[in-house]
Amino acid sequence: MFRSVNAINHKLWPEELTKLPTILLATANQDKVKELSSHFADMDISIISIDRLNSFPHVVEDQPTLKGNATKKAITFSKATGYPSLADDTGLEVDILHGEPGVFSARYAGENASYSDNVDKLLAALANIPFSQRSARFRTVMAFAFNGTIETVEGVCEGFILPIRRGQGGFGYDPVFFVPEYNKTFAEMSLAEKNRISHRGIAVRKMKEIVRSYLGA
Ligand code: IMP
Repeated sequence: MFRSVNAINHKLWPEELTKLPTILLATANQDKVKELSSHFADMDISIISIDRLNSFPHVVEDQPTLKGNATKKAITFSKATGYPSLADDTGLEVDILHGEPGVFSARYAGENASYSDNVDKLLAALANIPFSQRSARFRTVMAFAFNGTIETVEGVCEGFILPIRRGQGGFGYDPVFFVPEYNKTFAEMSLAEKNRISHRGIAVRKMKEIVRSYLGA
């Protein structure tokens, strides 16, 4: 009997249907699942995310660094489920704010802040700052935990914070993150365009080589 699955792409099937090596994405954030799954679509692996498990541990992202949080998530889920697990932690580093919000990007405007709350706080913090001084970068650290080993990679994308939102795509800070070479915000790019140049895209391309070497996929 086939279970009904809310598939994001053809790779997102339960392993019992595909018999392919399975990687667990240690996130329930469907925006990240969508981006990460699209990167792995050309590999012979099955991708599942934690919301597809019957139960999963709650991981508090309390480490002082992106690497610490990514590593903690990947190890916790790998140990709890036995699946090779992939986790990322991302921060937006704004130069004139001395690298803030950085590791606190998800909760910049408070514990349960929405994407929009965080963007509003950022725009307020940068009010009256000229464009040339609004440089920033997204940094992603991605961790892969498998059989007691851990591998990490990093990806960085440079840009500027616009004073207003532009574009309907993406998520999080994407509507205000402007990439001069493309004359677009991340939210104005297609998923394929964003994947080509983004922090997560750069990190995941490095990680795919590691995953290949571990799983032979
Ligand atoms: P985390 O990696 O889920 O902790 O993400 C930290 C914060 O950065 C969250 O508020 C996300 O919405 C935001 N974020 C993560 N990745 C991206 C991205 O690719 N674009 C825009 N915002 C992002």
